[in-house]
Amino acid sequence: MNILTFGPNGSGKGTQGAIIKQKYNIAHIESGAIFRKNIGEGTELGLKAKEFIDKGDLVPDDITIPMILNRLKEDDCENGWLLDGFPRNKVQAETLAKALKDEGMDLDYVLEIVLDRDIAKLRIMGRRLCVNDNNHPNHIAFDAIKPVEKEGKLVCRVCGGDLLTRPDDQDEEAINKRHNIYYDDTTGTMAAVAVFKSLEGPKVISVDGTSSIGEVSEAIMKELP
Ligand code: AMP
Repeated sequence: MNILTFGPNGSGKGTQGAIIKQKYNIAHIESGAIFRKNIGEGTELGLKAKEFIDKGDLVPDDITIPMILNRLKEDDCENGWLLDGFPRNKVQAETLAKALKDEGMDLDYVLEIVLDRDIAKLRIMGRRLCVNDNNHPNHIAFDAIKPVEKEGKLVCRVCGGDLLTRPDDQDEEAINKRHNIYYDDTTGTMAAVAVFKSLEGPKVISVDGTSSIGEVSEAIMKELP
């Protein structure tokens, strides 16, 4: 099963992706997480990407597009994949649509989590990243995924690992830039959503992101097999 997920930063896309990954045993590919891993490891790719990410700008397409297209060919994608954070603009969408066609790879679902920009912004600032596993969602404002307290500090609710905030999540200017890109329906992410919604093959699942994590998940699962 191959799924594309869309939703503004803060819509709960990563949390829902982790739930879907677990249920269907497919690869959860997050473009932002790949970049952050490379930054953490100090690779050449990470060094190049960091300057864009910290400002909330997109990493250039000539770096991002091949990185993702190659990732889809890795062994763990045999059972399917859930792509999160890519495509982020119209050019990436058109390139991906063509690549999937050329490779004979079916896209089964386009999942869109719809969320108002102001709510998304509030949510971004409260999320925390587990140093051990990107699929351990933590958020200080949501009871269902609230970090736990250990020895006077907040740690991952799943594994007890240390938690980090992303620099681009605490910088209002960077958040605004990321949302400008997302809500742009001419060349940005909303334009990418339109490219995939217009295709004949995939089923479109559109859910309201204002509901609780459980309710959003239920709405998605109703549409998946
Ligand atoms: P995310 O974790 O999805 O919020 O991504 C964090 C940052 O990584 C973004 O603000 C961009 O700088 C970069 N990034 C992630 N995905 C893409 C993409 N598809 N194209 C360009 N840059 C990206």
